[in-house]
Amino acid sequence: MATQERMEQLVALCKRRGFVFQSSEIYGGLKSCWDYGPLGVELKRNVKEAWWRSMVRRRSDIVGIDCSILMHPKVWETSGHVAGFNDPMVDCKLCKARFRADTIENQNCPKKPSLRPGQCEGELTAPRQFNLMFKTHMGPIDDASAVVYLRPETAQGIFVNFKNVVDTSRVKPPFGIAQQGKSFRNEIVTENFIFRSREFEQMEMEFFVPPTDGMKWYEYWRDERYRWFTDLGIQPENLRLREHASDELAHYSAACSDVEYQFPFGWKELEGIANRTDFDLKRHSEATGKDLAWFDATTRERYIPHVVEPALGVDRACLAFLCEAFTEDEIEGEKRTVLRFHPSLAPIKAGIFPLVKKDGLADLAESIETELKREFAVFYDESGAIGRRYRRQDECGTPFGITIDYQSKDDGTVTMRHRDSCRQERLPIAQLRNWLRDQLLGA
Ligand code: ATP
Repeated sequence: MATQERMEQLVALCKRRGFVFQSSEIYGGLKSCWDYGPLGVELKRNVKEAWWRSMVRRRSDIVGIDCSILMHPKVWETSGHVAGFNDPMVDCKLCKARFRADTIENQNCPKKPSLRPGQCEGELTAPRQFNLMFKTHMGPIDDASAVVYLRPETAQGIFVNFKNVVDTSRVKPPFGIAQQGKSFRNEIVTENFIFRSREFEQMEMEFFVPPTDGMKWYEYWRDERYRWFTDLGIQPENLRLREHASDELAHYSAACSDVEYQFPFGWKELEGIANRTDFDLKRHSEATGKDLAWFDATTRERYIPHVVEPALGVDRACLAFLCEAFTEDEIEGEKRTVLRFHPSLAPIKAGIFPLVKKDGLADLAESIETELKREFAVFYDESGAIGRRYRRQDECGTPFGITIDYQSKDDGTVTMRHRDSCRQERLPIAQLRNWLRDQLLGA
């Protein structure tokens, strides 16, 4: 399928099945902001939970934090965002459209989409730097002294709380602080559905290590983060690590890699892993006069920890999992659309289908639903032919279908249908909860 067409079909499926809607759609839509519908919100929560499980819960060297979006404006001066979080922007003098000057070769003239900006009759202005932070005012006074920013990344909340966490938790380097939450960037150009928007969510972890161990931990986290995606079903042929060349690195960065995914619109950054050295803690320490050094009581050494940061966008991760899962195949001569999510990411874990409503089958199915709902997102459906009910759940990515038939009443078993292979097996009702729990283990 042509890549453009594939993307259009995925976007249509997301809308049709309630994964993602345009923000404020009935008002004509707010460009570059998206709302997650009933299935989308479950997918997103599952992605965030899978990350939190692997980065925080299952480890003893990382703790979590949840910081406010609005922070002291000086934070963003110290971090370099006020002066340097810019993209170069050009305007078309004819149609007034705006473009990012550094990616002009990927953009189209809005009036003549077959041409690049500036290749039409319109002339482009010289590039100007545009700061990507959203500005607002804190409190009722609307002047420069009340300016605050919506955070453009979650990382700074972690750095400014470094001392709080060290003083209150039993952590010592190497250790990490993880955070998930909304970030805002006034991107000059937004693109590709939820890939690049102006309001999005991030999952970031800052790992604080002795200065001599920076590169060792950088390599560790680069490989770990790659593995997280493949454990959750991304095929290695669609995922690669791209090491940044030295001229691409920020001045404070010792090394940086992107995990890139092969989206239908090309290979693009999914996550960045960077060795940020001691830049951030040092700057915040200098700006505040607070001592952010670590004192190692065993070696009697005092040092500012170096930091390795894996930074991932939740929405970009959701899009990668959607693209990877989106498949069209044929079963029994009929075309079907199926989302082959890893079971732990699937919005609904099992469909519950009484073969017919009568003869007590619906009652039995409802009691199974009640039991499974205590632990899992399941969906009860008694309408239409069983094949159609399976197909509807295939399109939502539901990995298992539980059918209750006459035999169920006799011997207490159900048919378990597997989404990807369409294989069916019989399982005792009494074992369903444990069986489903086993399928969701792992990633
Ligand atoms: P890009 O080069 O695509 O603009 P970046 O290098 O500026 O990304 P980082 O600052 O490293 O991105 O942010 C970490 C992660 O946050 C990115 O890898 C991406 O997954 C996500 N992210 C960044 N900007 C956006 C955005 N505008 N919309 C959605 N996700 C984003």
